[in-house]
Amino acid sequence: MSNRELEELRDQVSEINLQLLKLINQRGRIAQEIGKVKETQGVNRYDPVRERAMLDELLQHHDGPFEPLTIQHIFKEIFKANLELQEDDHRKALLVSRKKKPEDTIVQIKGEQIGNGTPAFIFGPCAVESYEQVAEVARTVKAKGLKLLRGGAFKPRTSPYDFQGLGFDGLKILKRVADEFDLAVISEIVNPNDVEKALDYIDVIQIGARNMQNFELLKAAGQVDKPVLLKRGLSATLDEFVNAAEYIMAQGNGNIILCERGIRTYEKATRNTLDISAVPILKQETHLPVFVDVTHSTGRRDLLLPTAKAALAIGADGVMAEVHPDPAVALSDSAQQMDFNQFDAFMEEIEKTLHLQKV
Ligand code: PEP
Ligand code: MN
Repeated sequence: MSNRELEELRDQVSEINLQLLKLINQRGRIAQEIGKVKETQGVNRYDPVRERAMLDELLQHHDGPFEPLTIQHIFKEIFKANLELQEDDHRKALLVSRKKKPEDTIVQIKGEQIGNGTPAFIFGPCAVESYEQVAEVARTVKAKGLKLLRGGAFKPRTSPYDFQGLGFDGLKILKRVADEFDLAVISEIVNPNDVEKALDYIDVIQIGARNMQNFELLKAAGQVDKPVLLKRGLSATLDEFVNAAEYIMAQGNGNIILCERGIRTYEKATRNTLDISAVPILKQETHLPVFVDVTHSTGRRDLLLPTAKAALAIGADGVMAEVHPDPAVALSDSAQQMDFNQFDAFMEEIEKTLHLQKV
């Protein structure tokens, strides 16, 4: 074969490539239309019966040179890409997505604004243990001019024999302290049936990592008018995390704060692995404020400050960390909570960093 003939054949192939490209895109646009119709009809996008019929029809008309299985494989890839195109459209339409709402959501908690560009802080003990314990922390938080206090009353523990929290008695302590010190309190709720009842005691409902895909709990939190702090699941992808937030917003509650708290990896040097890049990704993909919990992500007191600095530098809207009057005797997470001296030093350093950032 002469070089000229080869060139001619190659030209033909290139021409066919362009035709295929045009046809594939044309097919994609029609598939998007079909996706929209299916969405209004509430019909599932994936239709295996229709796919089988299309493949059968293709194979009936097929007369080589490819093996029928090869043709089936090529078209199956085209079908898959078209389905993904429809799903991409769907994702673009998520209520929590930036595509749906380009401007930042600002969550208001008793006059405190989360997500307005000024970093916010949530401090408090891992668990509510007594009125005196919470009040001591509240006094320290208040003295720093801070507003948000945390404390777990329902503690989802790995072992059933570990301290499970004081339950509603714990929430009552939080309420009393919140009133006395004019603070806003945040506490985890684990049972969908408790959400309604908890509204009288707390200002923010926390949904913990172990419950990020407790869909009934997410729906219950979505049905009330109270901000929700949603933590990333122990091994949840960002897509799963965003969809968990969608569950809440789809029920009508848009006051959601996302909280990166570390994920499980093979690394043992820290309790979890802080996925710091989750912060800018979540900020790009959603319009919701993003917090970083430096206590549960690191599990190490010596890493609280550097990770908090990293969180703020990378664009987090706030940081959560645990503070206890006497961590050595804490009923949970005693290895990683700050005592008051450490808390003072931590906040001093953070304020210096924030000041430097502003200058
Ligand atoms: C907590 O913040 O009290 C807690 C239990 O954290 P996580 O759900 O992230 O483990
Ligand atoms: Mn804890």
